[in-house]
Amino acid sequence: DERIVSPESAGDDVYEVTIRPDSLESFVGQEQVRESLKIAIEAAKLRGEPLDHILFSGPPGLGKTTLANIIANEMGSAIKTTTGPVLEKPGDVAALLTALKRGDILFIDEIHRINSVVEEILYPAMEDLFIDIMIGEGPSARSVKLNLEHFTLIGATTKQGLLGSPFRDRFGIISRLSLYNPEELRRIVLRSASILKIEITGEGAAEIAGRSRGTPRIANRLLRRVRDYASVKGDGTVTKEIASGALSMLQIDETGLDELDRRILSVISDDFDGGPVGVKTIAISVGEEVRTIEDVYEPYLIQIGFIKRTPQGRETTPAAREHLRSSGNKI
Ligand code: ADP
Repeated sequence: DERIVSPESAGDDVYEVTIRPDSLESFVGQEQVRESLKIAIEAAKLRGEPLDHILFSGPPGLGKTTLANIIANEMGSAIKTTTGPVLEKPGDVAALLTALKRGDILFIDEIHRINSVVEEILYPAMEDLFIDIMIGEGPSARSVKLNLEHFTLIGATTKQGLLGSPFRDRFGIISRLSLYNPEELRRIVLRSASILKIEITGEGAAEIAGRSRGTPRIANRLLRRVRDYASVKGDGTVTKEIASGALSMLQIDETGLDELDRRILSVISDDFDGGPVGVKTIAISVGEEVRTIEDVYEPYLIQIGFIKRTPQGRETTPAAREHLRSSGNKI
């Protein structure tokens, strides 16, 4: 079943596209990333050259895809979007690359999940603008060199550590996105509300922001759920009380944790006496994949100081145990 506070896209894309910022100006937060992109874009434009290849890393829902599209807008470039696991064969990536015109952007989401054969085609493509592909099979097989137009590759990954350094080194710009603070999320909620014509108070927006796990995608999703609640239980305006009532009904606590987070904390804290416990064991206990625990749940639990990563495994902090105790009483 669908998890409301999942930072991953549920495919409700119409909604996401409507409220997606389309310029660096309207992109909230991530000041350093924004500033360095702004300079890179202006410099490339001044020289009349395509941008350097760019790698974005960070947990899902923080704006990597949004930034790729903003860059295309600001450069006035066409953008082609694909994702790592879809590129299975050399031919898949060759077809994409040879169709690009000068200045076009190729955006590869989940770039850490491309296979090594495809990765090796990308190396000379990124560095020297050509690809070598094999045509035919067996003894008659031969390698053909194809020249490419000067394109820009933008990659997005939830795990920068999973890209080998030969690959990473071919990106001229590497930007790491971090979780947003409550004030930034409040501004994102207010901005989305105004686009969607939702009446909301500053305190209502703050209430949603505080429970959004540092993630714009979650903030926007919660806003939509709270709006429904506001029109049924109130007069349509999202106030602090309405937001708080709606989110409690959805079992999202004041820190933005849901049932699964609390189970993760409880496995470490209760079943393993506070840890350390390996992430595999945690994953099995709560019935999730290791990757999901690491990419989706942990970053926020670590950020708010509930989980510590040690060489021996994960540990809960006293703050987490206190939170479990008090929220356990409430729910
Ligand atoms: P990612 O590619 O990192 O998973 P997305 O770029 O798809 O994340 O962003 C998810 C949603 O969050 C988008 O619909 C976008 O509207 C919103 N969003 C992300 N970052 C920002 C931001 N800095 N300001 C406003 N909205 C944002």
